[in-house]
Amino acid sequence: MGSRKVTSSAPVDWQGKHVTVAGLGVSGIPAAKVLHARGANVTVVNDGDDARAREQAAELEALGITVRLGDGATLPEGTELVVTAPGWKPDKPLFAAAREAGLEIWGDVELAWRLRGPDAAPWLAITGTNGKTTTTQMLASILKAAGLRTAAVGNIGVSLLDAVLGDEQYDVLAVELSSYQLHWAPSLRAHSAAVLNLAPDHLDWHGSMEAYAADKGRIYEGNRVACVYNVADKATEDLVREADVEEGCRAVGFTLGTPGPSQLGVVEGILVDRAFVEDRHKNAQELAEISDVNPPAPHNIANALAAAALARAFGVPARAVRDGLRDFTPDAHRIAHVADVDAVAYVDDSKATNTHAAEASLAAYESIVWIAGGLAKGATFDELVAKSAKRLRGVVLIGQDRALIREALARHAPEVPVVDLDRTDTGAMLAAVQEASRLAVAGDTVLLAPACASMDMFANYNKRGDAFAEAVRELGS
Ligand code: ADP
Repeated sequence: MGSRKVTSSAPVDWQGKHVTVAGLGVSGIPAAKVLHARGANVTVVNDGDDARAREQAAELEALGITVRLGDGATLPEGTELVVTAPGWKPDKPLFAAAREAGLEIWGDVELAWRLRGPDAAPWLAITGTNGKTTTTQMLASILKAAGLRTAAVGNIGVSLLDAVLGDEQYDVLAVELSSYQLHWAPSLRAHSAAVLNLAPDHLDWHGSMEAYAADKGRIYEGNRVACVYNVADKATEDLVREADVEEGCRAVGFTLGTPGPSQLGVVEGILVDRAFVEDRHKNAQELAEISDVNPPAPHNIANALAAAALARAFGVPARAVRDGLRDFTPDAHRIAHVADVDAVAYVDDSKATNTHAAEASLAAYESIVWIAGGLAKGATFDELVAKSAKRLRGVVLIGQDRALIREALARHAPEVPVVDLDRTDTGAMLAAVQEASRLAVAGDTVLLAPACASMDMFANYNKRGDAFAEAVRELGS
């Protein structure tokens, strides 16, 4: 870790400033309105020109904001600043033109960061390939248990702009940040931040694993108190080492094993802190028991440790960590126990939309009938299958790219029975659950952890999980 004195970015005089907002949508519309209200001269550009876009455009135009539909590529004449929707790919011609003109490009996070008031609450920031939402919510729950005014914001719940500009007063914010958002947030400086893990994802957007990692690593830049990393994922520690932070900022690891000094970890079923204690070479502080974490799956205990590390970096007492973890219930479709039928547990982890998430999910159970498949998004399944093979009682495959998983199973787990449903219709889930129930024996877990996106068969992962739960209910009735 290098250190430097961070100077805060200067406030902007918005009066008459020509700002181009790239993208109508969840971040673009509020951004355009806020900047317009501050006196900026706002033009919104958007690729699409459908009925919905026209409706949104009409609403903005009524306020006096210029909207250009059907052309998100050309930079409007006179632009002084570009504010983009985070999902816009960096290789778009609009950005090339902006860079050519020497302009800054801000995403929604940068905008919120720059518009926050002088007494704004500090940010505890979280990113990673998987576990962001869960960890951010756990952190907010812990902070609340400590009596702090807080909210889980960013990709979830309250939008960052609302949190920063709204009337609600916060002591501290638990902020979930995606790699896209970090890419477009050059001056963000969190109080403390965590990168939970790093596996290939969204590489088509970032261009390469290096670029993806570098964008994730941005979260550590300018941290004041702690950079929290995953001891089991060296890439996250490397990012800490490369970051420029404020003097005195510490690197703090979390591990499922016994923690060393400056780490949080697990000792005999207890989550312990050896980072934020007096004399960390000799002492450890008990925080909570594994059974306080819901669900107590290994990857989720890692999430709890990361959340605890950020909370402790903010000075939260040990008791609040335990209470906050106990109060926390995960969002739907994340390792949700649906029902037991004939002594077989049915678990919905529809949110496991990539191989890294599915691997964590499969690691949480001893004997599994695995329901998998969907849209692979360019992923390969060899590593996942090889690592999980010994836990598999059987596999039921659904969805468009199921052959990729079937082939990986043939290579690495040839003895495991596989039912290839050869179906992508919505009713396939009922058939999948029925097939799984035939393969399962008492004590097994039937686990929906598709390792794939859902859009070949369902509107989204929520609908896929709902279909699974519905099928399980039918099975049990
Ligand atoms: P994100 O917001 O990063 O998508 P979520 O908290 O919504 O993460 O969890 C998404 C899925 O990722 C979960 O359903 C679970 O299967 C998996 N997951 C959660 N935490 C982890 C972790 N620490 N490591 C690996 N996979 C995880």
